[in-house]
Amino acid sequence: MIAMPYTKGPHDLGNHCHSWLLPEGRWGESNTGLVRGSGESLLIDTLYDLPHTAEMLSAYAPLLRGQPIRTLVNTHSDGDHWFGNQLVAGPGVEIVATQAAAELMTEASVDELVSMSGREDRVGEFIREVGGHFDHAGIVATPPTRTFTGELSLDVGGREVRLIQVGPAHTPGDLVVHVPDANLVYTGDILFIGGAPLVWAGPISRCIAACDLILDLELVAIVPGHGPLTDKNGVSRVRDYLDFVSAEAVKRFEQGLSVEDAVASIDMSRFADMSEQGRIAANVLNVYDQLDPRRPRENRLQQFGRIADFELHAAAAASEASH
Ligand SMILES: [Zn+2]
Repeated sequence: MIAMPYTKGPHDLGNHCHSWLLPEGRWGESNTGLVRGSGESLLIDTLYDLPHTAEMLSAYAPLLRGQPIRTLVNTHSDGDHWFGNQLVAGPGVEIVATQAAAELMTEASVDELVSMSGREDRVGEFIREVGGHFDHAGIVATPPTRTFTGELSLDVGGREVRLIQVGPAHTPGDLVVHVPDANLVYTGDILFIGGAPLVWAGPISRCIAACDLILDLELVAIVPGHGPLTDKNGVSRVRDYLDFVSAEAVKRFEQGLSVEDAVASIDMSRFADMSEQGRIAANVLNVYDQLDPRRPRENRLQQFGRIADFELHAAAAASEASH
């Protein structure tokens, strides 16, 4: 496996493949990828705002001489993976995502994020606290020009790049990008490394299946959606988390506990090193939704509210303990 220091900037993964890493990999701090072929390149994801995307593109620029970006792949519909698309779009550039992701990549989703961060409540406060270093000015929703369902094989200047739909998992339309001749995979938010996994859409079993798909590939490097490069041990740990949370949530559902009580009573000390512990609130909710299809589904704002509550309580408990 290729090891790389976890520093901001473009990293050479060999075979004309690269990644742009954005420490610390926390909320909104996502990674991108670049695959260069003969006379053209493919970019995987843009960033959460225009300044971060512009900085990433100018760092890749020396690599793109004679091999301009002709294809942009968005791994899924969360803003930190496509809000910078307008800086790449243009004649001769195809933007590719799954059909399910494309349906959510709209002007309305840009507006939703901006309005959530402007709210005068705990959710707005939480979103400003975790994403305040991003500047959402000037974003014009720039959606895919080509969509697919299932699997799509692209020819990037003579190289094969496979797009494999694994969603609904983290979101409704996730895909992973496999570069067979370089034994590389760019996973989008199927993998958070350093932070806790997050299952917005699920079911959680599909996130586990996506981990299994990655574990079955022959690989020299794995580029997660957030965090440092990883190896199969990193994938297995994400899988362990998902498996553990799923089993614990099922037990509590069967005991009749509420989602809130289930979240509060699961002992997560095995995974205490992960940041963004509050994601457990969305993950347990997801398991409950699967077990009881009559439960009204919560929207992203409500899911964020649960995560914010968990984080605010944890912060209050930590400050209590230190007094
Ligand atoms: Zn992300």
